[in-house]
Amino acid sequence: MMYILIILTVIFVGVVFYLAKLVVLGLEQRADEDVLGAKDVFGKIIEQKDKAHAQKANLEHEAMQIFTLYDMTKEITRHSNEQEAFNIFRRKLKENVVIEDCQLAQDIGESFKGGVLPGEYTAFVLKSKEKKLGVLLYKGLDSKDKEKFAILAHQFALALRRLKLYKDIETLAITDGLTGVYTRRYFLERFEEEIKRASLRKSSLSFLMIDADHFKLVNDQYGHLAGDLVLKEISNIIQENVREIDIVGRFGGEEFCVILPDTDLEGSRVVAERIRKSAQKRLIKAYDSTLRVTLSIGLAVYPSDGTLLEELMDKADWALYRAKSQGRNCVVAFGLYKD
Ligand code: GH3
Ligand code: MG
Ligand code: MG
Repeated sequence: MMYILIILTVIFVGVVFYLAKLVVLGLEQRADEDVLGAKDVFGKIIEQKDKAHAQKANLEHEAMQIFTLYDMTKEITRHSNEQEAFNIFRRKLKENVVIEDCQLAQDIGESFKGGVLPGEYTAFVLKSKEKKLGVLLYKGLDSKDKEKFAILAHQFALALRRLKLYKDIETLAITDGLTGVYTRRYFLERFEEEIKRASLRKSSLSFLMIDADHFKLVNDQYGHLAGDLVLKEISNIIQENVREIDIVGRFGGEEFCVILPDTDLEGSRVVAERIRKSAQKRLIKAYDSTLRVTLSIGLAVYPSDGTLLEELMDKADWALYRAKSQGRNCVVAFGLYKD
């Protein structure tokens, strides 16, 4: 009986131990699982942290690039001159990419002798909205910087397009649409400047007022469109007979004006006569017709006829009126009639 009790006790204790071990093993397994789970979560957190770091570095890098690009565009567009803008671009390029040389050309090969692009140079066509704006010729660009170069070059193309647009608008604002000479408003601005310059340099300046004779008849006989072509031809005749530094404007209708810097009465009479004779000789083709037109010219000289713009204009106008009343197709200088 005693033995049986001992055996049962041993069995009971054994079972209890076994069960306890099972419980402990179960707990250990769960703890291991928990640890593994925690490790997994920790690993994922670390992974996310690394990803976030990489993203942050990426964003910082992109922000830097955007800032550089913005900075560059801002600086480039501050200049209204294409070459100056390019010099800034080249400086920024050298600061941001490894490159040996970069040049700006209108066309491939243009900047090289004989128009041949040497082997080591590569051309990058600058385009904006499918419009070719120029070509960048470069050499010694590090292959890892190719993308950055392309970004900077595109940015430069945008700046270049803006510069060209500004220039176009400026040209539109100051040139007469029909004849291509300066508009009255811009011409008067230049006139003021030239008077100031002549005053500072103590030099003379002449002002011509040119009016087409019987232009009404041209329109009546050949039509307004032919009349427009004749006006264009008159502006060509005037421009062909003056110097590069002389300033030609259309005052409205069939009236043109010219400023001749550094030119006295004698000099301006020669120029005015040359223009008049040239017009008289010219056979103008206007659609189906060929015609001639004559010009009357009045001129006034700074400072002998006046020192103010209004005075010079009044006097040239008076001389022009006189040229008309003398029978047209002639030159009248105010200075020869003032007494
Ligand atoms: P005058 O010898 O006295 O200067 O006679 P004119 O007929 O030239 O002078 P007027 O001032 O009487 O007429 C100028 C003419 O110029 C009237 C107008 O029809 C013409 N005209 C003005 N502007 C234009 C233009 O833009 N195109 C054309 N086709 N004709 C113009
Ligand atoms: Mg006229
Ligand atoms: Mg007139």
